[in-house]
Amino acid sequence: MQFIDLKAQYNNLKSEIDTNIQAVLESAKYIGGPQVKELETELAAFVGRKHCITCANGTDALQIAYMLYGIGEGDAVFCPDITFISSTEPSKMFGAASVFCDIQPDTYDLCPESLERQIKAVLAEGKLKPKAVVAVDILGNPCDYDAIIPICEKYGLILIEDAAQSFGASYKGKKCCSFGHVATTSFFPAKPLGCYGDGGAIFLDDDELAAVCRSICVHGKGPGGKYDNIRVGMNSRLDTIQAAILLPKLKALKAYEVDNRQVVAKRYNEAFAKDFTTPFVQEDCVSVYAQYAILAKDTATRDKVIAHLSEKKIPNMIYYPTPQHALPVFKNEPHYGETYRNADDYCARTLSLPMHPYLEEAEQQQIINGVLEAL
Ligand SMILES: *Cc1c(COP(=O)(O)O)cnc(C)c1O
Repeated sequence: MQFIDLKAQYNNLKSEIDTNIQAVLESAKYIGGPQVKELETELAAFVGRKHCITCANGTDALQIAYMLYGIGEGDAVFCPDITFISSTEPSKMFGAASVFCDIQPDTYDLCPESLERQIKAVLAEGKLKPKAVVAVDILGNPCDYDAIIPICEKYGLILIEDAAQSFGASYKGKKCCSFGHVATTSFFPAKPLGCYGDGGAIFLDDDELAAVCRSICVHGKGPGGKYDNIRVGMNSRLDTIQAAILLPKLKALKAYEVDNRQVVAKRYNEAFAKDFTTPFVQEDCVSVYAQYAILAKDTATRDKVIAHLSEKKIPNMIYYPTPQHALPVFKNEPHYGETYRNADDYCARTLSLPMHPYLEEAEQQQIINGVLEAL
């Protein structure tokens, strides 16, 4: 049994993926082939953004987003306490401070009240400049943008949507990757839209910033090309082969994968509603369940379930065992007395189960039985 069955997806799309890879091999356009542009056009259209710029991975996409707005020394970047380190890794790299905020107790996304508390605390202290918010659609579940956007507007903050886990999800009719000044995603194989290696993308609407973004991705190239360097950039591109692999995968995501994820999640929800806290998705929103996480009633119960599943060779994971504020790398970040109660509680009780659009009902029943037996 697989935690995320990438092979089942490959078997389903094999002929198209193989043909596409072969075409790239024969074209010899390994960097910047026409499939890259085609993919960017399709991705932008799907999420409803003017521009999509692909790059080497989701972490680079975030770093480039920070670079677009010159985030650095003396700036405060606000971020939820439950995320993967990439969300604020660039803060530290560029000399800014990561200011963590608590999460919502139900969606596990950035808590708007905690965000505003932290912004006010930074302003009151007067040392750092509130600069940006990284809103992470955690586990594939969109943030509460109707609450977050007005706060960003009120304090003049840049909003970055980290949609690494939420490609295909939507918030009140708008697709993830369409929120904020800039949004980023990842095509790491296990993400809802994954390639066969590393990949990422940046989404925005502003024409000028889109041009800057393309320049940053290729060593700060200028109008004269890559030997006409006008700024410090990176070498961050999506390989043509990865674009060729993503094209049929995007088609499958649109046609049935997001729907299949809902079916799998619903079966889990019904099985676990009595004994666990199951995922909460806001009204009019669609989660892609990048991870399907349940909360046990306490840590001992969670650990008992893990032990039993592991004994039965049923894959399981904890996303994430440690909130960001407690990571050694962030030990010197300012906290302003925030308690991170919901984040700590989430980490203490969470457990993720196998989740992918190809999970068959019989296999899922084994997982459900394994979890319930443990109780
Ligand atoms: C995976 C992930 C990233 C980073 O993506 P990579 O492509 O692995 O660099 C960033 N943010 C979040 C929330 C992620 O889950």
